[in-house]
Amino acid sequence: MAAVQDSFIKRHGYLEQQQKGLFAIRIRTIAGNLTSVQMRNLADLSDKYGNGQLHITTRQSVEMHWVPESQLGDIFHEIHDLGLLPAVRGPRVLTTIACLGVALCKKAICDTKALAAQLDASMVGREQPGKTKIALSGCPNSCAKPQINDIGLHGVIVPSAVDGCVGCNNCVNICKAKAITVCDRVPYILVEKCISCGLCVRSCPKQALIGQNQGYTVFIGGKIGNKPMLGNKVFTVIPEKKAIFYIEAILCAYNRLAHKGERIGDVITRIGLAGFRQEIEK
Ligand code: SF4
Ligand code: SF4
Ligand code: SF4
Repeated sequence: MAAVQDSFIKRHGYLEQQQKGLFAIRIRTIAGNLTSVQMRNLADLSDKYGNGQLHITTRQSVEMHWVPESQLGDIFHEIHDLGLLPAVRGPRVLTTIACLGVALCKKAICDTKALAAQLDASMVGREQPGKTKIALSGCPNSCAKPQINDIGLHGVIVPSAVDGCVGCNNCVNICKAKAITVCDRVPYILVEKCISCGLCVRSCPKQALIGQNQGYTVFIGGKIGNKPMLGNKVFTVIPEKKAIFYIEAILCAYNRLAHKGERIGDVITRIGLAGFRQEIEK
């Protein structure tokens, strides 16, 4: 296969199947969202070009299989006409994955889908030293698995006690981390146990617990594959509105520090988290 075609195929998330001359076409979504019209049309495209099946990937993309090589260009245009884009492969910012977030989940602290849309418009597909996966979760439950992505964020609320407690124990009962006690109508938060889920703040009928700080916790350097690594917490709370700037700063630091092919976790293993963080803050 010619070099130009090779780069076109990788850049557009096409995968050569083990069956010669046939390809899997990967189509990206924003946070897993597709309209019913897009779904119906993708089903029709699968009938027309593939084997009549669609496959959902772990990164919230949709795959169509058994597409002949001679039809890659045609299907690219038809997917584009549906308002969809191909997924991305190789050393680039890959499709962002995101949980339901505030749009739907009652536990959510942050609007993960909105941030995923911003990232999709501004960063997905950008060339990097290595694969760069980003995942966004709206709360510490981490449904989108931010700790096993190169850059992972989850929403947090850091609670703080103020006056007004009536001793109803709602906060104690809702806290799964057993990080709060109430004594003589005064709540005490055990900082070392608290996971900053914010449920106690929401459960308090008297606003005697407030969110002293709210936003995203940021992890970097996580990955899965044959040498899995858990991400390192690099910022405990950043403002939600500034998340995109922090992600941009992490990518800039990565580009300055990485050798070709290194993932963020590899750079951290080589120079240490403190060195990487220093570079982000430049
Ligand atoms: S991570 Fe939190 S906000 Fe997101 S879906 Fe899971 S529980 Fe809901
Ligand atoms: S924020 Fe969550 S973990 Fe922390 S005290 Fe409140 S309910 Fe418990
Ligand atoms: S929920 Fe509020 S009022 Fe009830 S015990 Fe906790 S802090 Fe006090």
